[in-house]
Amino acid sequence: MTSSETTSVSRRDALKIMGSAVAATGLGLNRATAAEIAADTLGWDLPALSFAYAALEPHIDAKTMEIHHTKHHQAYITNAKKLLADHSDLLARGPEALVRDLASVPEAIRIGIRNNAGGHVNHTFFWKIIAPGGLSTAPRLEAALAKSFGSSDDFKKQFADAALKRFGSGWAWLSTKADGKLVIHSTANQDSPLSEGLAPIIGLDVWEHAYYLHYQNRRTDYVTAFWNVLNWTQAEANYSRIVPV
Ligand code: MN
Repeated sequence: MTSSETTSVSRRDALKIMGSAVAATGLGLNRATAAEIAADTLGWDLPALSFAYAALEPHIDAKTMEIHHTKHHQAYITNAKKLLADHSDLLARGPEALVRDLASVPEAIRIGIRNNAGGHVNHTFFWKIIAPGGLSTAPRLEAALAKSFGSSDDFKKQFADAALKRFGSGWAWLSTKADGKLVIHSTANQDSPLSEGLAPIIGLDVWEHAYYLHYQNRRTDYVTAFWNVLNWTQAEANYSRIVPV
């Protein structure tokens, strides 16, 4: 967690969040719910990356990373905050809570929040699931992938298929359902798996802004390159948070 994420959650909200997680665990409620509540600490500031913009080259180029982070991601945050200027109650709930419960957002700003809070949540997730050189320890997740999809390679094929078949702008995902079952799917625009009651484990941004400078129209090459920068350690952590040992 970055300091900006920490400071943007008020002490009251932090206590409420921790209290809910502890209460849910204590009562033996769905573990995913407790984990999701505990993870609801994202604020409304641009999170810092844990690596330099050039660190993912040649797979993702520095210029794309810089524009993607400082312009595209920042714009989602700026737009969301603008929409919430007169809704301090919604602002205090944080982006993940709003994306999980879009029905609670007033209709006049609902689509804007779906797109922009969704964009903020999705990109924050994405910066953590990629890493220089990839990081490759995910024994529990890889066993689960083999069980669900045949093998890790079969999973990669099906995930790439979801990424390539997503028409226009969107995301490819590996998510878990509430019961821990793994599912490969895609979403349009900045729609988040959280809005469907799913918890993302791995996600790939397939908007052209994510790859066009380097790959132009060759989305296939970009999707293939993704496996070189996928942070399996983070994917394992995402999985273990929903399906604890
Ligand atoms: Mn993007």
